[in-house]
Amino acid sequence: MESHGFSRRRWLAVTGSALAGAALGGCATGAGAGWERWARPLSRRPFAVPRVTADRVIRSIVGLRPFRPAGFLVRGERMGEKVVVHNYGHGGGGVTLSWGSSALAVREAARTEERVAAVVGGGVMGLTTARLLQDRGWRVTLYTKDLPRHTTSAVAGGQWAPTTVFDDEALTPEFEAQFREAVRRSHHAFQALVGAGYGVRWIENYSLGDAPLGVPYYLRHMPELFPSVEDLRPGEHPFPVRHVRRMVTMMVEPMVFLTRLLSDFREAGGVLEVREFRHRSEVLSLPQPVVMNCAGLGAGALFGDQTLVPIRGQLAFLPPDPALDYLTVGGGTGVSYMFPRSDGILLGGSFERGVSNRRPDPETTERIVRGHRELFARMRS
Ligand SMILES: Cc1cc2nc3c(=O)[nH]c(=O)nc-3n(C[C@H](O)[C@H](O)[C@H](O)COP(=O)(O)OP(=O)(O)OC[C@H]3O[C@@H](n4cnc5c(N)ncnc54)[C@H](O)[C@@H]3O)c2cc1C
Repeated sequence: MESHGFSRRRWLAVTGSALAGAALGGCATGAGAGWERWARPLSRRPFAVPRVTADRVIRSIVGLRPFRPAGFLVRGERMGEKVVVHNYGHGGGGVTLSWGSSALAVREAARTEERVAAVVGGGVMGLTTARLLQDRGWRVTLYTKDLPRHTTSAVAGGQWAPTTVFDDEALTPEFEAQFREAVRRSHHAFQALVGAGYGVRWIENYSLGDAPLGVPYYLRHMPELFPSVEDLRPGEHPFPVRHVRRMVTMMVEPMVFLTRLLSDFREAGGVLEVREFRHRSEVLSLPQPVVMNCAGLGAGALFGDQTLVPIRGQLAFLPPDPALDYLTVGGGTGVSYMFPRSDGILLGGSFERGVSNRRPDPETTERIVRGHRELFARMRS
């Protein structure tokens, strides 16, 4: 039976050649990223411990992940006079996939002779699509029911990891190829944006559990994108659980990222109009010849996609702590993760498929806080 663990030796064997290739190719992966911090023995790495108590919760929020069991749709089609390019249904990985999926959508649009487009949707997918079109010289008008700060994209945790994007049993070779291409392109694009301007940084992620940890699709098939993956032995980490996996990934601060994309869009001559479309015919009467459908969950009703379902996610926030320089996933009660951000320490979460209620549930907040309080109370600092 295949072992799902990552030993140091196995990880080096898997990635050694990929990393060497990146270095030879002059890839900027490590430039200024502080990699030396992660190279030193973990036993000497200091860990700040978050202070988790119910009375420190500053807000609870809910978002609905736009999930398609068969994975996100990127496809162009002719509808009457228009070419409509769909780019929606990215589930729990839309921030991660944004640049890559939008690059595939823009490639579809570029098959036409046109250079004027309407983008429907002002979340991460609409904004990255609009920016990539502008980079190619297109004139873009963005129509959206909600301003970026009120979208699902603004609720995202922001870890760079393509998770909960499809159901394993619905995976097809065609989607796998599209998914991998989008992931790789996106990773490349986000690396170039590391820094305060776009709210992107490299950070360690610790997956925690008392049962052996499964290996997600992206680590099995694209390990070279996640430096320093390693299963740690007891004594090598401070966490009070049996199984710990460390990897290094990127963290995107959604509000910083979306705000910057919007100002880049405007600076490049883009026009934003707040408008809700009630029916597909309204979209098809827009003056622009090409329509990029980046309406997230709204695409289901507009274009009759019955497979699109919400996966409800709830988050609780504590005041920010700049000393925290790692993420945790797991280790609490039920779904749990801790992401330190400049707007607060985010504690997640929940995955409730088919539930579209956006009101935060006090019992879920209580469960999330209790699980993290118990976890961090037993952590060695
Ligand atoms: C709790 C939670 C945590 C998450 N964590 C992460 C994470 O750590 N990493 C990650 O990569 N992803 C994460 N995600 C997933 C991510 O948020 C989504 O995949 C992503 O935001 C989808 O982006 P989008 O632009 O397609 O949709 P949205 O952000 O929902 O944008 C859709 C846009 O379309 C507009 N629209 C919809 N219908 C209409 C209409 N009829 N007329 C006009 N406009 C319309 C809306 O107003 C909006 O502007 C998380 C999501 C949640 C809820």
